Amino acid sequence: MSRREEVLAEMGIAPLWKLRRREEPAPAAALGWMPLKSAVAGCTKCGLHSTRTQTVFGVGDENADWMLIGEAPGAEEDRLGDPFVGQAGKLLDNMLAAIGLSRRKNVYIANVLKCRPPGNRNPTPEEVAQCSPHLLQQIELIKPKLILGMGRFAAQTLLRTDASISSLRGRVHRYAGVPLIVTYHPAYLLRTLEDKAKAWEDLLFARRTMQSL
Ligand code: URA
Repeated sequence: MSRREEVLAEMGIAPLWKLRRREEPAPAAALGWMPLKSAVAGCTKCGLHSTRTQTVFGVGDENADWMLIGEAPGAEEDRLGDPFVGQAGKLLDNMLAAIGLSRRKNVYIANVLKCRPPGNRNPTPEEVAQCSPHLLQQIELIKPKLILGMGRFAAQTLLRTDASISSLRGRVHRYAGVPLIVTYHPAYLLRTLEDKAKAWEDLLFARRTMQSL
């Protein structure tokens, strides 16, 4: 017990509340691409393996500067095995094209979860805990300069916060030592057209940030 804690205990002021440090994820032990891909393809660490059609590992340039992270595969992604292949994916591709990027070149796209939660329900904390090491390994291999966290779930999970997207936008955070910028999820933008302009601001902010790195 520190002197200060002793004094406070004497005065009957206990327990002592301490500011909790936000835990940064531990660096992942290095696996190569092939072992990682087969570990993900055969993963049975959570219950989602029993309902998935297939795992959705990620897509794009394995040496990309940009890494985009969404929530979890939806029905189309589960069927086809690639992230963001539905309507939201088309919007994402158009947004990337607007800043001169493409999922084939200098961009890698992945999700927090590699398997589809049935009925597109939110991932559970247990599923996230079991799947996060896969994402950390991907980051370790890609070594992106910048991560774009797309949507409330990805942003809150990666940053371990329950703050709103609007309060997290417009700032550079960090995940696993990599600068991270938060923006809206493309599926949300399909439903909320008025926030597309804000997502465009986020992309321009991300591009300026990338240029300064
Ligand atoms: N939504 C996501 O978060 N990820 C996908 O891959 C598809 C939809």
